[in-house]
Parts: sequence; C-alpha cells; structure tokens
Amino acid sequence: MSATCDETHDPGLQSWVTTANDPDTDFPIQNLPFGRFRPAGGQDGDSEWRIGVAIGDQVLDLQATGLVASTDMKALMSTAPAARRALRLKLSQGLREGSATEASWRNALSPMAAVTMGLPCEIGDYTDFYVGLHHAIAVGKQFRPDNPLLPNYQWVPIGYHGRSSTINVSGTDFPRPVGQRRGEDDKHPAFGPSARVDLELEVGVFIGQGNEQGRPITIGDAEDHVFGIALFNDWSARDLQAWEYQPLGPFLSKNFASTVSPWIVTMEALAPFRSAFERPAGDPEPLPYLDSQANRAQGAIDIGLEVWLQTARMRAAGSSGQRLSQSNFASAAYWTVAQLVAHHTVNGCSLRSGDLFGSGTLSGAAPGQEGSMLEMSLGGKRPITLDNGETRSFLEDGDAIVLRGRCQRDGARSIGFGTCRATVLPALT
Ligand code: CA
Repeated sequence: MSATCDETHDPGLQSWVTTANDPDTDFPIQNLPFGRFRPAGGQDGDSEWRIGVAIGDQVLDLQATGLVASTDMKALMSTAPAARRALRLKLSQGLREGSATEASWRNALSPMAAVTMGLPCEIGDYTDFYVGLHHAIAVGKQFRPDNPLLPNYQWVPIGYHGRSSTINVSGTDFPRPVGQRRGEDDKHPAFGPSARVDLELEVGVFIGQGNEQGRPITIGDAEDHVFGIALFNDWSARDLQAWEYQPLGPFLSKNFASTVSPWIVTMEALAPFRSAFERPAGDPEPLPYLDSQANRAQGAIDIGLEVWLQTARMRAAGSSGQRLSQSNFASAAYWTVAQLVAHHTVNGCSLRSGDLFGSGTLSGAAPGQEGSMLEMSLGGKRPITLDNGETRSFLEDGDAIVLRGRCQRDGARSIGFGTCRATVLPALT
C-alpha cells in the first residue's frame, strides 16, 4: 500500500489559479485529478482527446505544460507509482503561488465551462462488484426476508463481468431501456419500456498498471495497480433484472447505460482520507490472500457521497434538484479496493490499464443513506414524496440523477470528484 502523504497534500498550499483557493471548490491544488478533454470549438471526432488536470474552474492541458509528451491517457495511467508521484509533485510545484512556471502555464489553461469532457480513458474490461453490505442486506430482504445475506458474501467479493461499450461520461443522456419483464402474477412476460429504471450510487475504480495472465496481484501490491477513483452510476432496470437474473446474473438490465464522472481522483490525492478497515464484530476474518496489516490499518477510503434528483418539473421551475440520500464509501463497503484487485486476479486473470471496477451500490445502514430507488421506495411499495409534491417509486422520463463525492477530514484540504450526471430520456419505441 502506498497511501502516504507528502508536501502535495499540505493544506496550506495555494495556487496562482485563484479559483482553486475557493474553500468550496472540488479541485484545489491538493487534488489534481486527471481527465480527457477537447478544447473549445472542437467537434466530435475532429480532434484528439487531450489529457487535462482540473484546477479550480480551469483545465490544465498536460501536454502544453511540457511535463508529458503523449496524449495517451492509458499510457499515463500505467506508469509506475513512483513516476505518478513525481508527476503529481511537478504539477503541484508548477501550480503553486509564486511558481516560475505561472507565465507559461497560463497559456495551458482553459475554462472548464468551455471544454468538452470525454470518458477519462478508453475503458477496457468492466467488472461490477457488490461491496455495499447494507445494499446487499436491504435488497436481499426484499427477495429473501429470512435470509437476506447469502453465505458467500462474507468470503468472496461478489462481482460479475459487465460491458464497457455503453459506459458514458457525465452529461450523456440515454433512452429508457426496453425489454422483457414478468410480474409476479403474470403467466408470460410482457415486452416494452422498463417501468422500474433505477440508479446505483457507486464509485468507479480505474486500473493503472496491469498484470500478466497467470501472475496474480497480491493484496500488498494491489494499490500500486490502481490509478484512481471516479463517481459511477450503474443504471439498472429492476423489472428486466428480476426476470433475467437467474441463473447467470444481470445482463440487459444493466448494460444499456452506465455513467462515470470525467475526473479520476488519484490514489495519491486520496491518501489523507484513508482509515482503518474493520469488519463487524463476529464476522469471519478474510482468507489470507484478502488480508494484510496495511489493509486493516488504512484500507478504507472516506468519500462522502450524495444522490441528487432533478425532475423535469424541477428543471422547468429553475430548481437544481433535491438531495435524495447521503452515504460514504468507507462505511458502506464490506471489501476494500485492494481486496477487489487481489481477488480479481487470484485465479490468474489479467487486468489492463483502463479497466474499470464498479464498487457496487454504496448504501449506508440508516434511512436517508440509500444508494438506489429500489431501497428508498421498498421496491416500489412505498413511493417517496419529493419537496415539490411529486412522488417517485422509480425514475420517470426527464429525471436527471446527479452523484457528488467529497473527502473531508480535519487537518486536510477537502477535495471533490465533480459531478456524475445523466437524464433518463423516453424509450425509443
Ligand atoms: Ca451495480
């Protein structure tokens, strides 16, 4: 594990990009997340994505700083941890107040509002895990009231292989999926638009350095292979899911769209927000390949998470929306990022730079901490009433979901993840 703090985390650092010094910005000089952007005026396909670093309300063009020659994000992500830390230090030094590079780097800045953000990288293989203990229990209760948590949950980080072709960057709206669904009392399935489109509050873990097939990544090395974390919404069609998921798991109920935020917050930036990882008293200890002293000491990552809903009526009324829930990665997750990497590769499976893990829905234990509508509305049995009087069991056409994430701790400069937003459009049929 390499979660150590250095001078780049000093909460007293200020940037000559003055908007980075705003206490409320997600992107102070202590963050320095990476994303891909096209400059203003660029059209889809007419210019290559460039690597940017978010600083305040600006995007720093990494190539224009001279620190990196290539615009290949996956190549950058696959560099060794020492090289990543060296680049972070150079960025921090160059963006600090009084830096000699200010004059030349000013020309490398573009206002965030004027550029187009793409996916943070070309995403390779996508695996969705199920680390949210409270989500697993709450959903399990709806299907198996007497036995909500299946016996493998405490032993195996549960996951399935998903599909990356329909993972979109924040801001990409998508049509309501159509498919088969069968109600409890129906003899045959019906076909049509899903009536139970839901969100899933997750974080996305981006793999940096991969591994060779047959060479597992140990838990001790696991975080060296992780580039960073973004927000992730694994949109789900619950009616399609209920009908199709046995015996092989989710399929069309999940792969119609997922949304990822444009900025990858690096593992280095998250170093001040690590905490001890503890299992509930009485739970079995993980098997040795999933256990280490370092993982116990600082395996958790304290990321505050929020789900916001903006309905079409709210949008028409000029409202930015309503917060539906608040949760936290550290308290919601039963498995750490390092455990996911170690488990994924223990059989010899290879990971590659640009692969993405979804964490699984990160619901807290208490009301108001649900990471899905399925939990908020008890599977549709108890619709929620919004502040403007509208009600929801699941998402309606025109509903936008916005995920937010922020790390805060005494003695550290708080950092954020930006937003992960998309709107459900009417079905195409
Ligand atoms: Ca999921």
